[in-house]
Amino acid sequence: MTQVNNAGNDIIRAGEELAAFITRYPRLWVITGAGVSTDSGIPDYRDANGQWKRSPPVQHGDFMASKAVRQRYWARALIGFKAMGQAPVGGAHRVLAALEAQGLVEAVVTQNVDRLHQRAGSKRVIDLHGRADTVSCMRCGYRMMRYAMHAEMAQMNPRFAALDAAHAPDGDADLETDFSTFEIYPCPRCSGILKPDVVYYGDVVPPERRLAAQAALARSKAVLAVGTSLMVYSGYRFCREAHAMGLPIASLSLGVTRADALLSHQWRAPLTPVLEHALACLRPG
Ligand SMILES: [Zn+2]
Repeated sequence: MTQVNNAGNDIIRAGEELAAFITRYPRLWVITGAGVSTDSGIPDYRDANGQWKRSPPVQHGDFMASKAVRQRYWARALIGFKAMGQAPVGGAHRVLAALEAQGLVEAVVTQNVDRLHQRAGSKRVIDLHGRADTVSCMRCGYRMMRYAMHAEMAQMNPRFAALDAAHAPDGDADLETDFSTFEIYPCPRCSGILKPDVVYYGDVVPPERRLAAQAALARSKAVLAVGTSLMVYSGYRFCREAHAMGLPIASLSLGVTRADALLSHQWRAPLTPVLEHALACLRPG
């Protein structure tokens, strides 16, 4: 019981401190990661120490170079991507959208590709690593919704479409079988390689997206990192830039972050109850 009470007190204290932080710096540059979506049932890649829980995701070079890699990727995605498409909006998404509606958020820069911030009502979202619900042709640029591509592939591969397996991060699934007979749906315009519109490991964030995030940072008073270990450089770099600009940086997450040495505030606590308590503290009356 004591532990439960202590945990409750920690959440209340963290929520009050976070509310004070937002009141002091009422124009936040928010960066989010996998932790904001775990309540929505989307699995996380890393543990509380920032280490991989499982084998790292597919690399861009391998995806483009190897048909076998693409067959394995799409066969597994046929199962795993359903979870991402059906994931409900979580409490952290809702609170961040509410803070934005109160004019307290300059931008939500997310490293997630699940579009849950947009579904929660956030408008000022920068999808740093892209979005998983669309695909583009790597040769001609043709773009289509991913569910339509999956529907085609399910028809082309009835045996695979009938399989099931545990869901894994990024719309992947823990399926191991012979993938060599899997038929991949090609670009309907030029038969090129279709790829999800996500920044893979080994990819770079498109410059216009990075510049938009930097411009928003220049208009902000503080950084709030939520549910991210900041292990990936494309997110961590902004904390370094913010630190160099003299902006305070706060982190709310369950585990350590790569930016711990740069933080002015750090709460290691469950995200949703802390955010909800902070929001309640901020509400007038
Ligand atoms: Zn094409």
